[in-house]
Amino acid sequence: MHEKLRDVYDEVLQRNPGESEFHQAVHEVLDSLGPVVDKHPEYTDSAVIRRLCEPERQIIFRVPWVDDAGEVQINRGFRVEFNSALGPFKGGLRFHPSVYLGIVKFLGYEQIFKNALTGLPIGGGKGGSDFDPKGRSEGEVMRFCQSFMTELYRHIGEYTDVPAGDIGVGEREVGYLFGQYKRITNRYESGVLTGKGISWGGSLVRTEATGYGTVFFVEKMLEHRDDSFDGKRVVVSGSGNVAIYAIEKVHELGGVVVACSDSSGFVTDQEGIDLDLLKEVKEVQRGRIEEYAEQRGSAEFSDNGSVWEVACDIAIPAATQNEIDEDLAVRLVKNGCTIVAEGANMPATPEAVQVFADAEVAYAPGKAANAGGVATSALEMQQNASRDSWDFGSTEERLSRIMSGIHDRCLETADAYGAPGSYSTGANIAGFIKVSDAMLALGVI
Ligand code: NDP
Repeated sequence: MHEKLRDVYDEVLQRNPGESEFHQAVHEVLDSLGPVVDKHPEYTDSAVIRRLCEPERQIIFRVPWVDDAGEVQINRGFRVEFNSALGPFKGGLRFHPSVYLGIVKFLGYEQIFKNALTGLPIGGGKGGSDFDPKGRSEGEVMRFCQSFMTELYRHIGEYTDVPAGDIGVGEREVGYLFGQYKRITNRYESGVLTGKGISWGGSLVRTEATGYGTVFFVEKMLEHRDDSFDGKRVVVSGSGNVAIYAIEKVHELGGVVVACSDSSGFVTDQEGIDLDLLKEVKEVQRGRIEEYAEQRGSAEFSDNGSVWEVACDIAIPAATQNEIDEDLAVRLVKNGCTIVAEGANMPATPEAVQVFADAEVAYAPGKAANAGGVATSALEMQQNASRDSWDFGSTEERLSRIMSGIHDRCLETADAYGAPGSYSTGANIAGFIKVSDAMLALGVI
């Protein structure tokens, strides 16, 4: 790492002890900025990089609620408003027992560069709670969301901070959150949250956007190598929002998804995942992935090993951070995988990314490949601001164009800074320059 950036990184380690995911995300970005710092001393002279590593505001709050047994439960809520140089803070909420400040900060930090890469006027932020929705009744989820928003509402707004979904937060949760915001503020402020239902201010394609967008990105990677999805074997991890719609688009484009997973194990299905059945099990019944295999003759369930041991041409991790370590990356390469595109945020460890680089696997980081979700959220904000709603086809077309633009920007930037073909260097530098130039223009704030 460049000496000046090493100093910034050391300061981040010292100021944010115990936040390993945040350290990892910062390291990954700073490590690729060496050529930028050499060319543009103004970024270090004005401390833009140091300022970028310190959130503008961090909010931590108590979320008390009463469960179905009448017991009081206490969770912890977070909102990290990381950077608003390009627009209102924007980024999802994650409800998962693993959530703590370090995870929210890593996600918020990534979000700054991802949002900048989309070219849309949105800053970066992220939030969530250590609440585990799994096994909770509808009533419990609603009461939790209402309590969460009862604190959060004072910090957000369509011009301030616009949360959305992430792990454990889908349309149902966004509905309860929006309902409580509306009730407390007495305002039908559609633009305060994205990922809303279609009948109450949501955008068509938002549900599908992250998964579809990732696959559009892979389509461009394939085109770049004069190839296509035709007949490609694809493994997608997870079976939530991003995974399901990635699988749908892969199948539409002629590939075959042969395995997917959840936190209890994975299923292989060499005939290709039956999407209707998967949606029924995961979206309607909110069941476990094993139930898919129980109802599908060609599928097998395993809770031993990893979904990344299944042979494939293309890997789309779409579950969670650090799910592919060095050993699994080696396994993927040995099994013939040539493209990895991150639907999830930071699913590959730094060692895994190095394995991909050494093996010349084309690797697209989440901040580029999964930016379609937040980009479509920004389209939802545009529709809300103009009290309009666009049809599915034209919205999907916009998403496809945005992903294509991000793909090309990554490669052009990588070329310009001496790292041809590196999507991660290109994404980090292009996102960084966009947000840093805005910060320079706005002065020391
Ligand atoms: P969902 O909650 O809809 O689905 C998450 C999926 O990943 C589930 O199948 C879940 O299994 C699995 N999973 C979660 N945590 C773990 C874990 N620790 N170990 C193994 N499996 C796990 O979330 P999303 O699909 O929305 O998000 C998936 C990823 O995509 C996340 O990294 C998120 O940050 C990223 N992302 C999401 C965007 C969006 O628009 N939703 C936008 C950009 C990125 P189980 O149900 O068993 O927990």
